[in-house]
Amino acid sequence: MSTDQSSKSLNDTVISNGYCVGCGVCAVTEGSPFKMVMDDYGKYQSQLGRDNVFAKTVTDYEELCPFGSKSPNEDLIAKKYFENTCKYNDQVGYYQGVYAGHVTQGEFRNRGSSGGMGTWILNELLDQGRVDYIIHVKSEASDEKLHDIPFSYHISETLEATQQGGKSRYYPIELSEVLKVVREKPGRYAVVGLPCFIKSIRLLQKQDAVFDERIHYCIGLVCGHLKSKRYAESLAWQMGIEPSDMKGIDFRVKDSSRPANRYSTYARGPSEEKVVPTNELFGADWGAGAFKYKACDFCDDVFAETADVVLGDAWLPEYVQDSDGTNVLVTRNNDIEKLVVTARNESRLKLDDIGVEKAIQSQDAGLRHRKIALVDRLDFERQASNWVPDKRMPNGHEASPKRERKRQWLRVKMRDLSHESFMEARTAADINIYLDRLGVVYSEYQKSGKTLKGSVKFRMKTVVRGVLGDRGFKVLKNVVA
Ligand SMILES: Cc1cc2nc3c(=O)[nH]c(=O)nc-3n(C[C@H](O)[C@H](O)[C@H](O)COP(=O)(O)OP(=O)(O)OC[C@H]3O[C@@H](n4cnc5c(N)ncnc54)[C@H](O)[C@@H]3O)c2cc1C
Repeated sequence: MSTDQSSKSLNDTVISNGYCVGCGVCAVTEGSPFKMVMDDYGKYQSQLGRDNVFAKTVTDYEELCPFGSKSPNEDLIAKKYFENTCKYNDQVGYYQGVYAGHVTQGEFRNRGSSGGMGTWILNELLDQGRVDYIIHVKSEASDEKLHDIPFSYHISETLEATQQGGKSRYYPIELSEVLKVVREKPGRYAVVGLPCFIKSIRLLQKQDAVFDERIHYCIGLVCGHLKSKRYAESLAWQMGIEPSDMKGIDFRVKDSSRPANRYSTYARGPSEEKVVPTNELFGADWGAGAFKYKACDFCDDVFAETADVVLGDAWLPEYVQDSDGTNVLVTRNNDIEKLVVTARNESRLKLDDIGVEKAIQSQDAGLRHRKIALVDRLDFERQASNWVPDKRMPNGHEASPKRERKRQWLRVKMRDLSHESFMEARTAADINIYLDRLGVVYSEYQKSGKTLKGSVKFRMKTVVRGVLGDRGFKVLKNVVA
């Protein structure tokens, strides 16, 4: 297929059907026909521009896009990098060390969303001279205004600048601008990103030698899903700051009087600053998935399976009470495993070996949604005769019981309705339109959760499947039968 045909084909499948996650990798190549635009719903999307443009470095856009029909899946990509040095689990992907803990050195933990490991690893790679540049997400404003919007990918080359890039930004970002700089600027880079963004980078590295040579480490974040820009606006608006007045946001303010998962949200308007416990704000229930990109509902990678290391929150009873935050950490790369072990021996990190089962437990809800209930969401699309991307389907995965399937349907409905109703609310300058319209479906969703007898069994099944893997699960099922 010619480059021109493949760009049209990507447009007709992934982009037109709403599966673009806005990573921006298709727009990086010299002469790319794609450009990144922010759509009316506050999501980055790729847009096919001029016809007959000749892209010099990419041969096939369908192989480059993480949702493209011809791109290899996460297992195939990861195998190349990690097969010889790691073990494999079908929930977490490849793994060497599996830890829970936090940074004790410096201010990393205080400044981070969780245990501070995200910024620490980037900082350590730079400090040890393993890379020259860090590609990470920070405020576009001055370094003093860390939480000012918009947030975007930046390149940092000093330890101080790297440390300004902490905190989780549940906010749309894209890679094309920053990767264009990488193309122009030789050096060794480390990049931090969500699972699908890291997958895109691996696919780009496969097609373009410049990126293969320059990007030395990929640091992944565990991911529930990516939010549109309207998520931030919806939280601030409920705090009395209208969308057009919003200047800054911190999605993860630690509250020393509450467990780590009971964090607060900070928002800044022209003359006021507010901090409100996040669970008091409508739309912040991540399971409900308000303002989610559609693509995220068709991604089955929670642990950034193609990254050299992945970091998330250790949502485990033994750690969650510590309001300062605790990371779950899975290493896959020898250099990073060594950095981590050395720093632990030097008491710069406090880390427990937790084993892969605990890592799975820490992301139980996300894994069930992404890897199991994906069957239902694919079914919904297929029943409507829509195009769907190819996904990894472990053997024996069946549609969920009726009630769980209804919950999935309600989640899809809330995802779509959040975008539409908030747009209407903005136009009418009345947040109640969003709160009321989405509120009706959310109540139904909550009620459905309370009567999920069948689903408890389903959850048990999925936890056991997660721990034993598909093969072990089948053996157990036969023994029980
Ligand atoms: C959209 C999103 C969804 C997430 N979902 C989950 C989840 O379901 N479960 C879970 O356990 N953890 C999730 N995380 C990860 C979690 O929020 C923390 O980022 C992670 O635990 C690291 O915390 P830390 O204190 O170690 O890192 P910090 O020291 O706070 O550093 C965070 C790093 O992430 C980078 N970063 C921030 N926002 C983005 C972004 N949008 N895209 C790429 N890089 C970014 C920063 O530049 C920084 O390098 C998610 C993160 C994001 C951004």
